[in-house]
Amino acid sequence: MHSVDATTEQMIRSVLAYAENRLRLDPVPLDQGPRDAADLARATRGLLSAEGTNADQVLGVYTSMLAPTVISADSPRFLGFIPAAPTKAALLFDMLVSCASIQGISWLEAAGAVHAENEVLRLIADKAGLPDTAGGCFVSGGSAANLSALVVAREMAKKKVGADGRRWRAAVGSDAHSSIVNTLKILEMDALTVPTDDHQLTGEALRAAIDADGDPSSIAVVVATSGTTNAGIVDDLAGIAAVAREHDLWFHVDGAYGGGGLFAPSVRHKYNGIEHADSFIVDPHKWLFAPFDCAALIYRDPQKARGVHTQDASYLDVIHDRPAEWNPTDYAYHLTRRARGLPLWFSLAVHGVAAYTDAVETALQLARDTADEIRGRANLELIREPDLGVVLFRRLGWEPAQYTAWADQLLADQVAFIPPSAWEGETVARFAFLHPHTSMDLVREVLDRMDG
Ligand SMILES: *Cc1c(COP(=O)(O)O)cnc(C)c1O
Repeated sequence: MHSVDATTEQMIRSVLAYAENRLRLDPVPLDQGPRDAADLARATRGLLSAEGTNADQVLGVYTSMLAPTVISADSPRFLGFIPAAPTKAALLFDMLVSCASIQGISWLEAAGAVHAENEVLRLIADKAGLPDTAGGCFVSGGSAANLSALVVAREMAKKKVGADGRRWRAAVGSDAHSSIVNTLKILEMDALTVPTDDHQLTGEALRAAIDADGDPSSIAVVVATSGTTNAGIVDDLAGIAAVAREHDLWFHVDGAYGGGGLFAPSVRHKYNGIEHADSFIVDPHKWLFAPFDCAALIYRDPQKARGVHTQDASYLDVIHDRPAEWNPTDYAYHLTRRARGLPLWFSLAVHGVAAYTDAVETALQLARDTADEIRGRANLELIREPDLGVVLFRRLGWEPAQYTAWADQLLADQVAFIPPSAWEGETVARFAFLHPHTSMDLVREVLDRMDG
């Protein structure tokens, strides 16, 4: 299995040929073959055998039966949830990271990889206006990043008052991401849910909630969102930061989706106040055009995170002997990790940061143009002005089943993947723009299908 023999040569040819063809797709089609569980079971039956199966035969099952069931998140026609649009450069380099088994655990084992990842984190920290001392690591996703940051926040609060066994809380806006709720459950924390002002968490509302609270000393952290997933709303970060500082609370900003907007001058002002964050996360696998799975986690004071996350095991002492050396493993809940920041590093280096700015601005402009298009149609109603790349709207007179049928038909016809969403309990339609090659012609086609 580990030698280069005839079978290996065959696999190198076949798998790389597949990868090359996939890389050359421009645009990537949506795809979505039948996904009946019984058919899939039939297709793969017997493949995990004691003796193994010819590589081309296995690859054939994959390409004919498994791959087509995966809706291509990187298609410009993928307009639901949050799409992905990795650059070709980033995809290529992701292959290299895999083929060369590039891990990014410690400086001792992977100094060059860690150095390059840290330069990307530095670039993002600069966009956010965080101090030179800021740093962190790349983790698998926003959920892992939120968890890793909030455990540090909780431990810092504990440190202040001593571990007296109390149950800690996090002040969160009512539109915070579901991963925050899950994180609090894991951390045995409760939420102080602050009502939002038109779905935006404000400093004022936060102050009022804390003032009215019977037990404010149990609040460890305030969580703000810089780009809600459903509507792209950026919280009042400056106002929230001020309240967090007044009350000596950890200030965490979840920019998993919207953090990419920091690269776009046209919306940069919406993020004012983010420079006060104690921890900030952004998913490059969303709006910074990196492949799955890549989240940047940045702390204002990484020493605090290191104190919480460093794993103590005698066989690891050797990586911690040299305190000046940066070990990504010490800044999140993980130990072994691939250097998943490298594909982004390569692509940023090849294309330049300005190309990223242009690509993010393209999605923002699509959202604005789509809002105009919706305003111009009598049967449609814009729900709110888009803050970022998400557009929520309703088709007047439609019941939920009509939205579902519309979306199902669009997918069946390979026009677009655009599942309905919900807004204040109502089923609505939602564009999530991210891919810079999504066209207004496609948008109009999708909207035309709401006529009649
Ligand atoms: C997507 C998202 C997350 C979760 O990130 P994953 O990478 O999916 O784990 C958290 N917060 C927000 C605001 C998000 O959009």
